Amino acid sequence: MRILLVEDDALLADGLRRALRHDGYTVDHLERGDLVLPALRDRHFDAVLLDLGLPGLDGLAALRQARRHQQDVPVIIISARDQLDDRIVGLDSGADDYLIKPFPMEELRARLRACLRRQSEPVRRVLTVGDMILDLDCMALTRDGEQLTLPRREMALLVELAGHPGRVFTRAYLEQALYGWSDEVESNALEVHVHHLRRKLGSDVIRTVRGVGYCLVVPDSQGATP
Ligand code: CA
Repeated sequence: MRILLVEDDALLADGLRRALRHDGYTVDHLERGDLVLPALRDRHFDAVLLDLGLPGLDGLAALRQARRHQQDVPVIIISARDQLDDRIVGLDSGADDYLIKPFPMEELRARLRACLRRQSEPVRRVLTVGDMILDLDCMALTRDGEQLTLPRREMALLVELAGHPGRVFTRAYLEQALYGWSDEVESNALEVHVHHLRRKLGSDVIRTVRGVGYCLVVPDSQGATP
């Protein structure tokens, strides 16, 4: 799950980013309102946490701009503006929820979960590939009826690959999918995740396409065998 955090208070942003990463979310952080729409166009986010007082463009204007451009990602406003009118205008501008600062982290977590639940389409919550069942809600993998626990980045990598078995994903795409903008990525991080997945799932499950990237090989599924 990828969250866009738009917050110009560096201290608060840092705390939120750490807490959300700890919960298993991938977090990208922006400090400016005018960068929200470009970011939403650039990649898929599962939710946005949006401050209102922002340099570049006020959060409300950024939200309206995003909605005008058919960006329907769930947005939770996080703001110190605590008047009823502020909340009404925020929700009427297209926010899904409004949280007044300061707020307990637990409340943000719960509202975020609720937001993600509401927007999730039941049909895409479970991926079945060959003998593997990936439950995207609890990020759990069942194989041959046996539940396997994977670290979150290995799971995220497997979910990406399993979205289109047989399709070759470039290294750059997979690294982007697994890491936030500001995450420090070791140059061999992806290889290490692939190595671990192969050890756990079998060496032939992920195929290396030299100079390009990786694909999931599922001999049982139609058309997935390269
Ligand atoms: Ca602010």
